[in-house]
Amino acid sequence: MMAAGRAAECGAKVLLIEKTYRLGSKLLLTGGGKCNITNNAEMPEMITAFGKDGKFLYRALTVFSRDDLIEFFTLRGVTMQTEPDGRVLPLNKKAEDVLAVLRTYLEEHNVSILHNTTVATIQYGSKNKTGLKGITTSDGKMINTTKLIIATGGKSYSATGSTGDGYEMAKQCGHTIEKISPGLSALESNSFFIKELQGLTLQDIGISVIVGDSKKSTAKGNLLFTHFGVSGPIVLNLSGTIIDALANKSQVELALNLRPDYSDKEFDKILSKDICSFGNRTVSQYFKKTLPPSLASVMEKLCSAIINKKCSVVNREERQRIASLLTDFRITISRARPIEEATITRGGVSLKELNPQTMESKLVKGLYFCGEVINLAGLTGGYNLQEAFSTGYLAGQSAAK
Ligand SMILES: Cc1cc2nc3c(=O)[nH]c(=O)nc-3n(C[C@H](O)[C@H](O)[C@H](O)COP(=O)(O)OP(=O)(O)OC[C@H]3O[C@@H](n4cnc5c(N)ncnc54)[C@H](O)[C@@H]3O)c2cc1C
Repeated sequence: MMAAGRAAECGAKVLLIEKTYRLGSKLLLTGGGKCNITNNAEMPEMITAFGKDGKFLYRALTVFSRDDLIEFFTLRGVTMQTEPDGRVLPLNKKAEDVLAVLRTYLEEHNVSILHNTTVATIQYGSKNKTGLKGITTSDGKMINTTKLIIATGGKSYSATGSTGDGYEMAKQCGHTIEKISPGLSALESNSFFIKELQGLTLQDIGISVIVGDSKKSTAKGNLLFTHFGVSGPIVLNLSGTIIDALANKSQVELALNLRPDYSDKEFDKILSKDICSFGNRTVSQYFKKTLPPSLASVMEKLCSAIINKKCSVVNREERQRIASLLTDFRITISRARPIEEATITRGGVSLKELNPQTMESKLVKGLYFCGEVINLAGLTGGYNLQEAFSTGYLAGQSAAK
């Protein structure tokens, strides 16, 4: 929508072809229906949110920045508000209003829209693949054009229309598709206690990813136990590293630190004092008093040998066992949730084959890509919509030239 609107605003005659009966179905799901359009992060942080490939976005984020995006909506009557964690959302927290602005933008610039129409193949000039001729729809209609922007999104939540078609179209044009996998995904665990902890949220804990024997990354935040495993923004952000490790057949665990603000030595002192203060009460009573009930019950199972022991007689080794459960609580990760449920799709059209100054294909003249179909995956927090809007805007104005 942004690409089509901007191309039309720059003077092009634009036809927007949409597979489903309505535009923006996925947009309506974003941020739990509140639409977290961007993040308050400055440019360097914005780039870093996309990992090592983030610098590809430098031009797009310069041409249509975070502030430009916020202004785009504010000037059209949807005021944006920044949350304490940096997420930018409409003040009234309604994704429908964001979608309404985009629809009006299309109308204002006379973009024609074909709903319920699927682009199936891309047609080239007869002699070589360097000139675009048009597209064919799934019902066999040929539409001629020398400029085409592919903005077909990723592969998750397929009911929204995003079924990965753009990857096939890109392949037809000779593009490389970097391996597709779920991104910002919840994780499944086969640890025996998962079902018992379902519904529990642990706040402000340390979460480390352990691959084999080595610690890969650590973050701090909230973790939610679900019926299948774990979720929450930090888990989603760490899921990329985990999915790659699982694909390499490595063993992956999450190590939870419920007391992340202390060093091991400091925590040992605190724990020693705490346990001492429990005197004749048992280790079981200590867990029940200091932890949420479901977690206390799991700790009791993991510490069964000493659970009925009086705190006053807990020895150093036993205290270390308790400390390790509280600061290095391990959850085995078996796999990510299916791509259908992922927030985004990792992988996509290779960045090496796109011109970051224009979003045009380096292989086919007149062909442009933007949004999630390209090989960029941002952290959770509004970065992915910013990427879609910025690359869409740049692709639109480049194609209109
Ligand atoms: C549940 C959920 C919550 C999210 N929340 C956030 C959030 O709060 N903030 C954030 O930054 N990101 C969020 N995201 C990610 C964000 O929604 C996507 O990154 C973004 O929508 C990608 O935009 P896009 O335009 O590239 O693709 P899409 O929004 O997926 O749109 C692609 C469009 O192309 C159409 N299409 C596909 N194939 C064809 C074809 N062959 N012919 C014609 N039309 C076709 C589809 O029907 C669809 O309308 C969330 C994602 C999900 C699933």
